[in-house]
Amino acid sequence: MSADALLPLLKSTFGFDHFRGRQADVVDRVMAGQRTLAVMPTGAGKSLTYQLPAVALPGCVVVVSPLIALMHDQLRGARAAGIRAASLTSVDADWADTRQAYRDGTLDLLYIAPERATGEGFRSLMQAREPALFAIDEAHCVSEWGHDFRPDYRLLRPLLDAFPAVPRLALTATADKHTREDILVQLGIPAEGLVLAGFDRPNIRYRVTPRISPAKQIADFIAANPGPGIVYCPTRDGTERMAERLAAATGRSVAAYHAGLDPERRARVQHDFVASEDGIVTATVAFGMGIDKPDVRFVAHAGLPKSIEAYYQETGRGGRDGDPAETLMLWGAEDFARARMRLSELPEARIASERVRLNAMAALVETVECRRALLLRHFGETPPERCGNCDNCLEPPAQIDASVLAQKLLSAVYRTGQSFGAGHVEAVLTGRSDERIASRGHDKLSVFGIVGGDEARLIKPLVRTLVAREALETTEHGGLMFGPAARAMMKGEVAVMIAEPPAKRSQRGSRGAGAVANPVGDPLFDALRAMRREIAIDAGVPPYVIFHDAVLRAMANDRPTTHAELSRIPGVGAKKLEAWGDPFLAVIRQF
Ligand code: ADP
Ligand code: MG
Repeated sequence: MSADALLPLLKSTFGFDHFRGRQADVVDRVMAGQRTLAVMPTGAGKSLTYQLPAVALPGCVVVVSPLIALMHDQLRGARAAGIRAASLTSVDADWADTRQAYRDGTLDLLYIAPERATGEGFRSLMQAREPALFAIDEAHCVSEWGHDFRPDYRLLRPLLDAFPAVPRLALTATADKHTREDILVQLGIPAEGLVLAGFDRPNIRYRVTPRISPAKQIADFIAANPGPGIVYCPTRDGTERMAERLAAATGRSVAAYHAGLDPERRARVQHDFVASEDGIVTATVAFGMGIDKPDVRFVAHAGLPKSIEAYYQETGRGGRDGDPAETLMLWGAEDFARARMRLSELPEARIASERVRLNAMAALVETVECRRALLLRHFGETPPERCGNCDNCLEPPAQIDASVLAQKLLSAVYRTGQSFGAGHVEAVLTGRSDERIASRGHDKLSVFGIVGGDEARLIKPLVRTLVAREALETTEHGGLMFGPAARAMMKGEVAVMIAEPPAKRSQRGSRGAGAVANPVGDPLFDALRAMRREIAIDAGVPPYVIFHDAVLRAMANDRPTTHAELSRIPGVGAKKLEAWGDPFLAVIRQF
């Protein structure tokens, strides 16, 4: 049965009229029993490519997934759509029932963690009745190249091979080619089985700007984003300080999350966040992997992410539901200085590749061109020049040729002995003498006062750029010294273009940027949300499990009055219509 033939089932089960992106290609292969690796970005709808076959195929689809939180989130969603789903994890009390249901053939979907899937007990369950499909979610965990290697995933192969007739489907959002090829080999999937979707997340808006006063910058950013969001901070202390400041500045509920908190507290923060429609979490990167919350409306970074991959993955937690999501990354020269310092502590073999990663980040923060284009090129795509949904496309920064200024700056660093910080060097260049400068005779240097009025404001941004580009490095004591790229720049062999500093850039669009997804002050929409909250609390699930915001928006817009009309709204499947159609129709009738 082809994917096309499953369209009626897609509508009745999930309420969707069409497949999205390359879902149909994956479903086609799965239905034909072909081994497949689906690489699609977060939010593309990978789960549907095994959940729909789970309903269509006789027999049960077994899904291997690395985290209990992920499994239970999917379980709730699948059950709400009327799929007979269960999981076998340490926190499930209904093991006997689940195993019996599996043997009886009354389960559509069974979730299991890799360490259990590879055990004898599970093998014999599979022998009692062959599954319809093995789906291996987050399949990059099988590869040491991936960013979340899980040795347990390596043990899956014997299980898969014990059932050669059962098709296998591996799924991941991991971009890089190495990992992809490794997954194919590790899981025994032929190269022609790769279905690769583009990495673009068009609904995510990218913004990157120098860090001036982070709490204020992020508070301003949040002011334009009423929905739930994540603020990544580099340190544990940082998450707590940021939480306090943001709560004070925005009056919203903000919780800190990091690995130093006790497990109970962490679980609570995560649970509350998943259930909330406006909660904010300030977190270290420890937060996120187990969270499939579709309605995250913003992701901010208070400091530089570790790599382009990390940035893409972390920002990718916004807007999985396809509604607009905003991101903001703040960076400073000290982020690069610190990262480069850490490089020297790494084993020799890793230094070169880590330096490449860091330079890619430097290019991202520095570029005056389309950020999305740069990201997508990094992942090997050939995107259009302009995306229209990043800061540089929305408010193109003026470019300034700072090549000569860079020479002056480097020369001042050199002549003052490569040991003073940016403030001192700036004072020398602009001819501001003080005791420190006079006592060292720096006011007698040829570079003293060679940078005049308007150009002075470019010195700090230029220092950031030169540090990012490795023309400058910082000493242990925060002084500036030459880096490997300094010589060529001094000789004028490379041009240094920098963006007009943000203070002078138009404020247009930096707040209230129009990416807000939901209508503000639409009483019907608000009433529908209130109904959703009530039902969600009753059912003990997060609101998005009932209906996504987009579904409520369509309801508020189309004002359906009958079941037939309501079922036409994308996202309203038969099961949800039956369970919750009436209360929502009742709300609509009141308006
Ligand atoms: P992934 O695992 O690829 O990150 P999910 O499977 O969690 O993505 O799906 C992301 C969202 O996309 C879900 O909320 C799902 O309801 C929605 N979705 C999936 N397929 C479709 C489709 N064909 N049409 C509309 N929405 C879809
Ligand atoms: Mg997924």
